[in-house]
Amino acid sequence: MKKINFYSGPSILPQEVLDGTKAAIDEFADTGLSILEISHRAKPFVEVMDGARALVKELMGLGDEYEVLYLHGGASSQFYMIPYNLLDTNETAGYIDTGTWAHGALTEAKLFGKVHVIASSKDTNYDHIPKQWDLSAKPYKYIHITTNNTIYGAQWDVESIRKIRAQCDVLVGDMSSDIFSREIDYSMFDVIYAGAQKNMGVAGATVVVIKKSVLGTVKRDIPKMLDYRVHIETESMKNTPSVFAVYASYLTLQWIKKQGLQNISSVNQRKADKLYKAIDESNLFVGNIAKEDRSMMNVCWVMKDKSLEPKFNEMAKSKGIVGIEGHRSVGGFRASIYNAMPESGVDVLIRVMKEFESSYAQ
Ligand SMILES: *Cc1c(COP(=O)(O)O)cnc(C)c1O
Repeated sequence: MKKINFYSGPSILPQEVLDGTKAAIDEFADTGLSILEISHRAKPFVEVMDGARALVKELMGLGDEYEVLYLHGGASSQFYMIPYNLLDTNETAGYIDTGTWAHGALTEAKLFGKVHVIASSKDTNYDHIPKQWDLSAKPYKYIHITTNNTIYGAQWDVESIRKIRAQCDVLVGDMSSDIFSREIDYSMFDVIYAGAQKNMGVAGATVVVIKKSVLGTVKRDIPKMLDYRVHIETESMKNTPSVFAVYASYLTLQWIKKQGLQNISSVNQRKADKLYKAIDESNLFVGNIAKEDRSMMNVCWVMKDKSLEPKFNEMAKSKGIVGIEGHRSVGGFRASIYNAMPESGVDVLIRVMKEFESSYAQ
């Protein structure tokens, strides 16, 4: 039986994407070949790569000053590729530390230049997005933010992004877990990156969107595979791209386009609102993130009585729910409700929470 998949990534995919990739494993684009065995230089695949790159730009409403790349190495490789390409040894980059991934990004940047942590919520276990910033180390070559904290469940609101944008010339965003989940002015960013496995496909492909004018300003020599300019020049074909993952991402982007970002955005809001409401109304469950910063993608909560957590998890499992255990560094629960999670899936989870509550509340 098909499970209700709340895993944080790799994660749930639209049925259309599963059907499309299955069909392409049998035969891709009337080529008489499987997508798994076709050359990345064959015209039908080049069309997929070009189509996917164009569609990312279209969905983001960005112009020709931006380039879209499909790279390897996950979002984690962007933690070092960004400073490698953008930050000289004597320059300072500003980072806002809002979670494990943000912390990982700033740690890597220290290998290449100066890093100033503008704000951090580390001391309170990443339970909010800091709105007070220490900008004393200006000018920043760039400022880096992680728009959604996948692990703890805190997300930047659009207004705060606009404010930090006004404080720098170059804004870099790790959008791995909330890309294409809401309506946002993507042109606030000069660099956007995301591993595909959360909201735009399967593991193995990483999307980088970059404004060309930010490149070519560092003095160091850059190995070809780490140089954005080389990947732009070769149209993401410097070496063999992850053909299958790029194809799955292309199908996911087409699905996103068909739904429409506005529609996706309002469904996501509705899903998150009802799940948080269920948590807030409960006597057993508690949310652990500041209300105004609650993530629309990764909903985290704990139980007042920790000893009940395994029991709730067991009950959820018995109802076909998987992937709600919190990250090992946080505990409790996390329901990742990415674009592909239908509202009906969230409804099942809420029903199970209520059922559990009525059997355990005294
Ligand atoms: C998952 C995630 C990462 C790591 O992605 P990989 O593709 O596994 O390297 C980085 N940043 C954020 C915000 C994430 O959610």
